[in-house]
Amino acid sequence: MTPVEALERVVHCLDRAHETGFKTRAFVRALEVVRSTAPEELVARSEAGTLTELEGIGDSTARLITEALQGDTSYVDKIEAETGVNLTDDGAKYRAALKGDCHLHSLWSDGGATIEAMARTARGLGHDYMVLTDHSPRLTVAHGLSKERLDQQLADVATLNEKMAPFRILTGIEVDILEDGTLDHTDEVLSQLDVVVASVHSKLRMERAAMTERMVRAVASPHVDILGHCTGRLIGKRDQSTFDADYVFAACAQFHTAVEINCRPERLDPPRELLNLAIDYGCYFSIDSDAHATGQLEWQPHGCNRAAECDVPLDRVINTWPADELLRWVQAA
Ligand SMILES: [Zn+2]
Ligand SMILES: [Zn+2]
Repeated sequence: MTPVEALERVVHCLDRAHETGFKTRAFVRALEVVRSTAPEELVARSEAGTLTELEGIGDSTARLITEALQGDTSYVDKIEAETGVNLTDDGAKYRAALKGDCHLHSLWSDGGATIEAMARTARGLGHDYMVLTDHSPRLTVAHGLSKERLDQQLADVATLNEKMAPFRILTGIEVDILEDGTLDHTDEVLSQLDVVVASVHSKLRMERAAMTERMVRAVASPHVDILGHCTGRLIGKRDQSTFDADYVFAACAQFHTAVEINCRPERLDPPRELLNLAIDYGCYFSIDSDAHATGQLEWQPHGCNRAAECDVPLDRVINTWPADELLRWVQAA
C-alpha cells in the first residue's frame, strides 16, 4: 500500500463512520499534500523524521505515511476495525440481495469523489451497477447540473462505462421537486435518463395540503422512478415535513414510483411508521446510500437493518434486481 492508498483508505473509513470533524479534515489535507509531493522526497523525509515539516502533515498522518513506506498496515487496520458499519443478521439478508445503489453523488454536484472513484468503490462492494444521481440546477448550493453540464456528464459516463464493463453506471439525476410539484428539468431532459430520483429540498415547512399535492404531482410524473427521502427530516435537527402519507404512498403504488429507504444515518427516511404504511399500500422500495463520498457507499446496511425491522418484502426492493430488470420496470412505469 502506497502512502496515497493508505491515506485514501483512511479517509474512506472515516467517511463511512460519518466522521466529519478535525480528524477527517487532517487526513484529507494530508492526502492532498502527499499527492503533490515527489515520492523520493517522502522517503527521504520519512527516514530523516522530517515529514511534519511539510505543511498539512501532523504526527498521525506522518506515522501513517512512514508505516505505508515500510509496508506496515497497522494504523490502517486499526481505523478499518473501528469504523465498520453495523449490519444485523436480519439486515444481512437484504444487503446480500442488493445488486446496485440508485442514489449517489459525485464531484459534478456536491459529492467529494469522481464518478470513477464512486463506481470502483460500488463495484468493490459487490454491486453490478449504480445510478449516478447528481443534483438538478435549482439546488445552486450543491452545484446542480444544467442541461448542458448534464449532457457533458452523460458523455463522460458513456466513456467510463466502456472502461468499467461489465459494471454499469446507469444515468440519472436527483431532480428537485419544485414548490408546485413540477420538476427541475424538462420532460425531454428527464426522458433521456435511465432512472430519476425526485426529492423535496426547499420549502420543507409547506402547509400539509399543499405539500401533499406537490409530492403527488411529482410522484405521478411518468419520468419519476424513485421518491427520495420523503419526509426531509434530519434526525435531531429538522422535523419531518407534513403531508398526507396515505395519498402520497397510494400515488407511489399506482404510478410505480418506488419509495426510497434513505440510508444516510442523519436521515433514515422514511421513519418506521411511514415505512410500514408504504408497505401496506403495496409500494416498491429502493435502499439507497445517497452517498456523497466513497465511504458513504457503505451505508446501505443502515437501510437494510431498517427494512428488516419493518419486514419490507424483499421482492419489492427494486435494487435487488439485475440492471436490465430494473430498467424494464422503470420504462414500464
Ligand atoms: Zn436529496
Ligand atoms: Zn442525494
